Amino acid sequence: MRDVSKFLSGFRRFQHNYLGARRSYFDRLVKEGQHPTALIVACCDSRCDPALLMDCDPGDMFVVRNVANLVPPYQQAGAFAATSSAIAFAVHNLEVEHVIVMGHAQCGGIRALMDHKPVACDEDQLIAKWLGIAEDARRQTLHSLPDKSPETLAQACEQAAILISLGNLMSYPWIRSRVEAGTLLLLGWYFDMINGELLQYEPDSGEFRALVSHQGIGRSTEHLWWKAPG
Ligand SMILES: [Zn+2]
Repeated sequence: MRDVSKFLSGFRRFQHNYLGARRSYFDRLVKEGQHPTALIVACCDSRCDPALLMDCDPGDMFVVRNVANLVPPYQQAGAFAATSSAIAFAVHNLEVEHVIVMGHAQCGGIRALMDHKPVACDEDQLIAKWLGIAEDARRQTLHSLPDKSPETLAQACEQAAILISLGNLMSYPWIRSRVEAGTLLLLGWYFDMINGELLQYEPDSGEFRALVSHQGIGRSTEHLWWKAPG
């Protein structure tokens, strides 16, 4: 499809919704700047736009998207600065209250990690180096779930990688200090696009469980935030 007319008609609807019907709302965003309360680290996957999934307005969430929604550890922040600089801006300048790492089902990046063979288009090893951030998730998955199907392993690794990224967030001293002071909460979410549900990691059970199922919103997030063990 070379036609971009769908995008243009979509922008026409945006003009109508925000520059027409809700002009004062958008004027305030322009005059007062953005004040999102959450940073979401999401995948580049075209099916996982956080603002669309959460039905958000402009200004609601600050989003950084990358392959497989990974956060590099503090020691590698300079090498992967596109993500770490966005995190720094959200925490230091916007003073967000939540950092949410949102993984998803059928993640191509995690599939490539689990396959552990060069991606055909990755002749410069850019994807492989990036996915190396989650190598421990791959190892843990293969160790804990031997002989499982590729689908089961992929889902387990998608969720394990979220925990790797949450752990990496805590390696940033200015994030750890805020989490320990209670001014910043870290959450691990998983978009189960197969069942159409949003899951959240529960530290007490060590499992991802439905946060928003087809029956509704299951539980409050307030007591379910993630914190590094110890
Ligand atoms: Zn993905």
